[in-house]
Amino acid sequence: MDKTKQACLVADLHIHSIFSDGTLSPYEIVEAAKLKGLSAVAIADHDEIRGTKPALAAGEELGIKVIPAVELSAKCEGNSIHILGYFIDVQNPQLLEYLETMHEARFKRAIRIVEKLQEKGIDITLQDVRRHTGSGAIGRPHIAAALIEKGVVKNYNSAFAQYLGDGKSCYIQKADISPASVIQLITNANGLPVFAHPSISKVDSRIEEFISYGLKGIEVWCPGHNADAANRYLQIVQSHNLVATGGSDSHGVRKDYPAIGDFTVPYEVVENLEEFYRNSVIGRRVNVEKV
Ligand code: AMP
Ligand code: FE
Ligand code: FE
Ligand code: ZN
Repeated sequence: MDKTKQACLVADLHIHSIFSDGTLSPYEIVEAAKLKGLSAVAIADHDEIRGTKPALAAGEELGIKVIPAVELSAKCEGNSIHILGYFIDVQNPQLLEYLETMHEARFKRAIRIVEKLQEKGIDITLQDVRRHTGSGAIGRPHIAAALIEKGVVKNYNSAFAQYLGDGKSCYIQKADISPASVIQLITNANGLPVFAHPSISKVDSRIEEFISYGLKGIEVWCPGHNADAANRYLQIVQSHNLVATGGSDSHGVRKDYPAIGDFTVPYEVVENLEEFYRNSVIGRRVNVEKV
């Protein structure tokens, strides 16, 4: 692409849709991206890939590049870490089977969290939560939305600080798998595993270990990273020949979360990601034509 034209183009490689804990449909996301002047997006739903197909179709229609993605969780030292999978094969049977298991596990976990809230005397039912979910993965933000609607808490931050955050009184862990297994699962599905918002995960010291499992990139640019943090992660990327990505982690129009267009990365980041994938063992394996 022409360099001067490319210089003003921006993208967002980390957005959630109604198939997980976002509030917009894949079409609405692509539409909002276009409206905000973005040229490329990746919808990276938690444990869900059903937004990919409609997003690709919307991208074709509206002239926005859409990169297939997913965001999987892994358990690491008691923390939940998130690994993004770019360019995953959405028909991979092993991945589909895993997502099905997680779908069920998330549903059961939501029931248990609601029970814990009820034990605290809070007037909330699973139906209250269901009003905020789609057909996809149920997550804690849906429960937080129900708590806000019921007037139990003022906002998402309070819901997590008081009840739902890691280690708080109504927190239930997900049945997350190990970082090595998540990285393997994404790789087997021809995806590029990228460590999402690493500073939130508090396991920086283990990045090199993740690289030894096949981690291929780090989300260097995200709202949680200041310039120092981004530079630190960029150095790790450069010293290990990884790829640097970035995105807003937008959950649509959920209050307390960034909206689409609030945080973007230069389009060059997308081009680098595509080139990295094309040149990677995984990319060569699938013999990517259009990427
Ligand atoms: P879950 O996948 O159900 O474990 O929920 C994780 C999601 O909850 C994250 O992807 C965020 O969207 C959201 N989340 C986690 N911690 C917080 C927090 N402290 N404040 C607001 N949202 C949070
Ligand atoms: Fe989320
Ligand atoms: Fe995440
Ligand atoms: Zn996310």
